[in-house]
Amino acid sequence: MAILKVARMGHPVLRHTAKPVPDSAIGSKNLKDLVDDLVVTMREYAGIGLAAPQVHIPSRVVIVAQPWTEASDEETVPTALINPEIVDHSNGVEVAWEGCLSIPGIRGEVGRWDQIRVRAVSPEGETLEFDADGFPARVIQHEADHLDGILFLDRMENLERLSFLEEYSRYWQDEEE
Ligand code: ZN
Repeated sequence: MAILKVARMGHPVLRHTAKPVPDSAIGSKNLKDLVDDLVVTMREYAGIGLAAPQVHIPSRVVIVAQPWTEASDEETVPTALINPEIVDHSNGVEVAWEGCLSIPGIRGEVGRWDQIRVRAVSPEGETLEFDADGFPARVIQHEADHLDGILFLDRMENLERLSFLEEYSRYWQDEEE
């Protein structure tokens, strides 16, 4: 396992559409190694999700820290989603703060569907289909966007409160509770 370098905003890899993982690669050692590397990299940077393009690999692979647990919990294996698709969603949109390991030190408010249905494949080739809502749904939408070259800033309708982390903590964080 290796901690990989995270691409920061401005690197073109973050703006490309990532390629689907072919059937022939599902279940392969390469794919499992990539997922392991994403997991250790996400933990190193204390993230709650990571997409392969963020580590310079233009493949449709994301991991999401199971939001029903703490991302820092070393015992917890995040969920890996290969070729994830949001196949359905509610009409409701919830606006909340987001950050991104590729945009360090910045927080912004982003509207996301509050309920989604996700279809994906596990690294072992198992078909996954599940509903997510609230925070998990937000993380999955954020990571899935990375596969299409979309950053959370692109989703912001109002940049007025776009903040550096220090100002976010000072002026906005408490209000969220
Ligand atoms: Zn991100």
